[in-house]
Amino acid sequence: MSASESMNLLYAQSGGVTSVINSTAQAVIEEAGKQKSIGKIFCANHGIVGVLKEDIFDLSSLSQRVINKIGMNPGGVFGSCRFKLKDPKHHNRSFDRLLEVFSAHNIHYFLYNGGGDSADTSYKISQYANSKKYDLSVIHIPKTIDNDLAYTDCSPGFASVAKYVAVSTQETSLDLASMHVGSTKVFVFEVMGRHAGWIAASAGLAQTKDMNTPLIILFPEIPFDSTSFLKKVNSMVKAHGYVSVVVSEGIISKSGSLMKAQLTTDSFGHKKLGGVGSLISKLIEEKLKFKSHTACSDYLQRASRHLASLTDIKHAMAVGSAAVKAAIKKQKGKMVSIKRTGSKPYRWKTELVSLQKIANKEKLMPKNFIDKEGYGITTACRNYLLPLIQGESSPPFTKGLPMYSSFHFPILKKRLGRMNGYRILMVAPPGAGKGTQSAILCKQYNLQSIACGDLLRAEAKSGSSLGKKLLSYMQKGELVPDELIISIMSKELSKNKYSNGYILDGFPRTLAQARALYDKNVSLDVIIELRVSNATVLDRLGGRWIHQPSGRVYHTKFNPPKNIGFDDETNEPLTQRVDDTPATIKNRLAIYEQETAPIVSYYQDLCHRNDSMSLHSLNGEELVNTVAKKIKKIIASIP
Ligand code: AMP
Repeated sequence: MSASESMNLLYAQSGGVTSVINSTAQAVIEEAGKQKSIGKIFCANHGIVGVLKEDIFDLSSLSQRVINKIGMNPGGVFGSCRFKLKDPKHHNRSFDRLLEVFSAHNIHYFLYNGGGDSADTSYKISQYANSKKYDLSVIHIPKTIDNDLAYTDCSPGFASVAKYVAVSTQETSLDLASMHVGSTKVFVFEVMGRHAGWIAASAGLAQTKDMNTPLIILFPEIPFDSTSFLKKVNSMVKAHGYVSVVVSEGIISKSGSLMKAQLTTDSFGHKKLGGVGSLISKLIEEKLKFKSHTACSDYLQRASRHLASLTDIKHAMAVGSAAVKAAIKKQKGKMVSIKRTGSKPYRWKTELVSLQKIANKEKLMPKNFIDKEGYGITTACRNYLLPLIQGESSPPFTKGLPMYSSFHFPILKKRLGRMNGYRILMVAPPGAGKGTQSAILCKQYNLQSIACGDLLRAEAKSGSSLGKKLLSYMQKGELVPDELIISIMSKELSKNKYSNGYILDGFPRTLAQARALYDKNVSLDVIIELRVSNATVLDRLGGRWIHQPSGRVYHTKFNPPKNIGFDDETNEPLTQRVDDTPATIKNRLAIYEQETAPIVSYYQDLCHRNDSMSLHSLNGEELVNTVAKKIKKIIASIP
């Protein structure tokens, strides 16, 4: 087999998932399996993050039965991610790492299945690979329930949500029709749609020849006007007795700000939306005194594979297999798009579009799709939407439930080390053994130790004015003020020599320092707390003698030099640290309790919210080797 024949393909899913994204995965696996020029078929675990971590599944020998099952599941069976690669001009480490992973596994076809942000990522990767002369065909496969990708008639995933929203609007409207006398008059249904109203618009399909559905749609493209809206609700309730309001999560006020945005943002910098339905409902109840119910379809709309549109599934599969075909033809930096070629009957085909055109562009609803009043859709919009929701293909049911599955795919053996080495933080009172353990770990894992105290002592020794200032605190065993430490450590941490991992020892030592570290996006994998009693600390530090030139440490009781007061190798005199006197040690311990110990619960909290970080508390009174073994075991468990 020649080298080009054995080139491998990597597929990955990204961004918010859809109910049919796995149909695309199914088609990719099936099509790649047919192509002789493709060696192995890989898939990243959780999108580009999985590639960076070299966390990859090998799908080459999946049975057709499993492949079919993949296609029937909602969600992304290989895991998705929201992770935006920074501009490679300034941050090329991630891009280099991607190429290292591709090269280590002979990957020359990369198919990225996602929305607008993933199109941007795909484009950047393609450009970067070109600039490094790495032979890589990057093809972006569209998916997005928002339907806001430009240069494609629609995006796989949208049509099934459109169907779900149209059906739900019909069904809830029938419920409302039966309840409105003496009870609920308005049903507010919040649907997704960040800037584009495609999903909200699809509620308009609930109005059919056979079914009268009093409906108001709130589009993000039309600034919300509460006076006109309340007037409209009032007139609809007067005319029909009730009305359904379908509101897009992204509606904006007249000033252009989001009506309801939670304060958090995702890693692409987008505001996380949600909650506008309740706001609208409250407005109606307060101003019009109509009883209302609110529902937010949230994940339900994009996970309801049982109601997926067959047309959508066909689109999803077609873009998957077209992407594989494009990749083996060595197309680079392209997206597979869907082109509508006929309306009656609906006809379509796939074609390739340059990613340069697409990246970060949004396709909003055209003006002629929204009616003059701004609360409904036009015939043009209906004609666009209707073909997309045609056909059903629900998964087979067993024991009353769809035959959904959990999967365990074979994991590809890693060939590279971790991208950033290990990032470890040691938290412990003075004398607990942080320095001793750091030295062992640095040697074993090729890490750099960042001992804050050592850095300060070096500065103090230099005699600089900063050094003199530092010494005035250190001599008394007091903490150096946070601003000084944060500025010294920020500078230190930005050095290249730490890019392969480090052990932080003695920093952060206060909550303010811990928060500053977090704000600077310095990530940690493991926090190790070493617990020792005050008596042990006094015992250990009181007898500590150091040979300054070499850093060799002796202890009068545990590790005495051959000649008391002199270094074993050079016979030079040993010294004690200025802050190792009993009074200063007691002061340092008190400060530890008060200032440093609280950072342990701070990190406990962070670890609860962050899977990739863990905290371990060890007994520092045990033998050095026993503690070291325990730490190594913890490190071995880091993914
Ligand atoms: P160490 O060698 O870690 O015991 O640190 C020696 C001394 O340096 C401490 O007693 C403090 O005076 C100062 N120091 C070291 N790290 C920090 C820090 N993160 N924040 C404030 N002061 C520090």
